[in-house]
Amino acid sequence: MLLDNYDLHNHSTRSDGLLSPTELLELAARTRVDAIALTDHDTTDGLDEAQGAARRVGIALIPGVEISVSWGDTTLHVVGLNVDPAAPALSNGLRGIRDGRTGRGEKIAAALEKLGIEGTFDGAYALAENKSMLGRTHFARYLVETGRVKDIQAAFDRYLAKGKAAYVPHRWAELPDAVDWIRKSGGVAVLAHPGRYSLKPMFRDEMLKDFRAAGGEAIEVVTGSHRPEQYAAWQRMALEHGFLASRGADYHGPGESPIEPGRLPALHESLTPVWSRWAH
Ligand code: AMP
Ligand code: MN
Ligand code: MN
Ligand code: MN
Repeated sequence: MLLDNYDLHNHSTRSDGLLSPTELLELAARTRVDAIALTDHDTTDGLDEAQGAARRVGIALIPGVEISVSWGDTTLHVVGLNVDPAAPALSNGLRGIRDGRTGRGEKIAAALEKLGIEGTFDGAYALAENKSMLGRTHFARYLVETGRVKDIQAAFDRYLAKGKAAYVPHRWAELPDAVDWIRKSGGVAVLAHPGRYSLKPMFRDEMLKDFRAAGGEAIEVVTGSHRPEQYAAWQRMALEHGFLASRGADYHGPGESPIEPGRLPALHESLTPVWSRWAH
């Protein structure tokens, strides 16, 4: 059913979310989601647990992942939906990306230490439940916990965002590779929150062209990572460039994400939802 409540972008403790896969599915049941994708960063670790919980609460689970990509100097996120986590192309590719995360974390900690903030590697590492998935969000949470900043957003704005003193450039997957891993595992590639990359129009069009050329089929239009006033522009972009459209909260946890799974506005009826690829 095309009108069902699909939410196709959510995180768990297997990457930088605050809820376990089970807790996420229980929340989604309360917010009346019909089909949910778990899309942890660079890992499919949580999908088994999520599948079991989905069965118990009566929600359809779309197995997913959010892959970190380097496109020139810009980090893009590509969501894979309906992937098979056992496909070697995908699991090997993801392992390769994860391998760089701990070393990058050490560099972030060193940069923070230069600013006089000590002990952040151990602090962030302790907060990362999945030790192979240390990310900036764990550093941000540690900076909040230790009273260095008032909230996660401030941690990024002051230290961790691109251009700030503790930002460490990192080489993630290449765009064509990430899309390829997703397709080889039977999935659909979706460009995550395209409105977040703050690209000039020329580069924005270039990004969409490159994504399409790589085999990308959909873009997120209605997402918790877009401001509501951005929905219309990305709706137009999806129609103009002939992309399927996706909808997802990009939920990370209570207190950190304003929009819970399933609570975003519906996609406009002019759009073809990405789930039309598999819902009949
Ligand atoms: P990483 O993959 O370790 O670079 O971490 C990326 C994650 O950091 C994103 O998925 C978000 O959860 C979070 N993040 C990035 N930028 C911001 C920001 N400006 N404010 C809050 N969270 C952010
Ligand atoms: Mn995240
Ligand atoms: Mn993202
Ligand atoms: Mn995300």
